[in-house]
Amino acid sequence: MGQYTPPLRDMQFVLHEMLEVEKHLKKLPQHAEIDAATIDTVLEEGGKFCAEVLFPLNQIGDREGCKRNADGSVTTPRGFKEAYERFCADGWGSLGGDTEFGGQGMPHVVSSAFMEMMNSANQAWTMYPGLSHGAYNALKAFGTPEQKKTYLPKLTSGEWTGTMCLTEAHCGTDLGLLKTKAEPNTDGSYSISGTKIFISAGEHDLSKNIVHLVLARLPDAPQGTKGISLFIVPKFVPKADGSTGARNGVSCGSIEHKMGIHGNATCVINLDNAKGWLVGTPNKGLNAMFVMMNSARLGVGMQSLGLAEVAYQNSLAYAKDRIQGRSLTGPKNPGKPADAIIEHPDVRRMLLTQKAYVEAARAFTYWAGLAIDREHKHPEEKIRKDNADLVALLTPVVKGFITDNGYESTTLAMQVLGGHGYIAEWGLEQYVRDARINMIYEGTNTIQALDLLGRKVLADMGAKLMKFGKGIQDLIASHAATPEMKEFTDPLGALLAEVSKLTAEIGQKAMKNPDEAGAAAVPYLRIIGHLVFSFAWVYAAGVAMKKLAGASAADAPFYKTKLITARFYFAKLYPETAGLIKQARAGSAPLMELEAVNF
Ligand SMILES: Cc1cc2nc3c(=O)[nH]c(=O)nc-3n(C[C@H](O)[C@H](O)[C@H](O)COP(=O)(O)OP(=O)(O)OC[C@H]3O[C@@H](n4cnc5c(N)ncnc54)[C@H](O)[C@@H]3O)c2cc1C
Repeated sequence: MGQYTPPLRDMQFVLHEMLEVEKHLKKLPQHAEIDAATIDTVLEEGGKFCAEVLFPLNQIGDREGCKRNADGSVTTPRGFKEAYERFCADGWGSLGGDTEFGGQGMPHVVSSAFMEMMNSANQAWTMYPGLSHGAYNALKAFGTPEQKKTYLPKLTSGEWTGTMCLTEAHCGTDLGLLKTKAEPNTDGSYSISGTKIFISAGEHDLSKNIVHLVLARLPDAPQGTKGISLFIVPKFVPKADGSTGARNGVSCGSIEHKMGIHGNATCVINLDNAKGWLVGTPNKGLNAMFVMMNSARLGVGMQSLGLAEVAYQNSLAYAKDRIQGRSLTGPKNPGKPADAIIEHPDVRRMLLTQKAYVEAARAFTYWAGLAIDREHKHPEEKIRKDNADLVALLTPVVKGFITDNGYESTTLAMQVLGGHGYIAEWGLEQYVRDARINMIYEGTNTIQALDLLGRKVLADMGAKLMKFGKGIQDLIASHAATPEMKEFTDPLGALLAEVSKLTAEIGQKAMKNPDEAGAAAVPYLRIIGHLVFSFAWVYAAGVAMKKLAGASAADAPFYKTKLITARFYFAKLYPETAGLIKQARAGSAPLMELEAVNF
């Protein structure tokens, strides 16, 4: 089954020593009372739930998968329902929910950390409550007061779960093509008909009701994305008193057989004159859906962070235990017939790559969580706006860069185990399979790259990017008097300068030929990912260096390890940026020259 231990020490380093969350939360009236000790208690108890309840179900879920029964109901794997009941009863589902709807009002940064642990323990299970968060956010932003009153408390408590019904057989990326219809009824509701595919958590036995958020077209709606509206379609229509009423015309036609996340039911959802209610303005459904998608995109980054962490833990334990061959510099363990494989430089490369990616991703995603708290709850408008800009800029990077690295990390973890990594009983191959979907759904990573370069960078002439750049320059300046930090700050400064030049060049070329942006986008996202991770590693190294000076013998190894990992990152992973910059500069001609017919 493998092992999972919540990485509390590193989580605390990021939250308390790097981000100083308590200090920032004090400035948000809603969270002014939250202190470091409360956060630590939540993480410790939440970590126990993840390690003791969710993790033991991970392999079971993979092996058993979900079953669609003859009546269209879906049975989740053994233990999933009981774990969900406990999750709700112990209040974990309502952790980050707003107090006005029955939630505990914990800041996003804290619930993000909890989400990391849930995903390490069991991504497929975590997707059931995870999708409810997206539905909650969209309804909170665009729902009527009545809709909020009916749905948000139930989504908060976990009594009901949510889904996101966008994709149809002929359209996933290009939602402008969707065909599902919504006909108005005389009572103000709509009759929704069509077929959605690939709907995560679309049908299951965990909750009493499922709240589908469905994209559909009104009669005479304009073609394309300007004619899409968003509807609530509950599995059971709520009665006036809030209890569940009649069964609605929404059902699961089948469940997909897929590569990973077997414990999560990926459903074909048939809508047969299902009763639905409009959310927000007619034909503006995509705006509402983007609220849900942005929240989900950050959540997908969190899924890959969680998987990379648990895969790393297992490959590390194996590398310390497995003996094969002798160290090149002479026996490290002469009493045994061979040395542990962790003594071999290339095994260390695989372990340190995972570690450097995981720890930077943790710092990045928790920072994003805090930025979301500041975006929504800071009393000063300028700070809210600055944080909103940074979150908008970096959401595609959280999704794209962390999920690409998550797949690489889980593959490396499998490689550390050699042939045993490929054998199901060790669990590593499941992580590789589970991690692969994260690069595809919520907008493929190509779409994230186009969003970053097109909408977030070029559309505002680099204004948001410059805001982020200013933060980088300030960090570098703060270390100007510390020569020991130069080995970290120099490459960060050099990459920032390259990014400014490259962005201007691509912008110029794209004005003449839009394919230039399309051709540069994917390497560009990876370059920006490294800019963010370089920033994170400079930040972490700066904190570690300071703390090391006064650290106890017990604490010193942690800070030394941070510095060594930062050095590894800049020596072995950061250099990838030079090749990526060349790729991004190589333009569209090498891709577009070949006629489609001649491929
Ligand atoms: C397990 C699983 C769970 C899912 N869960 C949900 C869910 O809960 N709800 C939901 O609505 N959907 C869900 N999806 C659907 C998922 O979001 C889509 O599969 C994804 O967005 C891609 O759409 P597509 O499959 O139609 O691929 P397509 O859109 O056909 O894309 C095919 C390829 O072309 C590329 N491409 C397409 N357009 C462009 C472009 N303009 N520029 C450059 N490249 C482009 C894509 O990047 C991709 O590589 C899920 C899918 C899976 C497999």
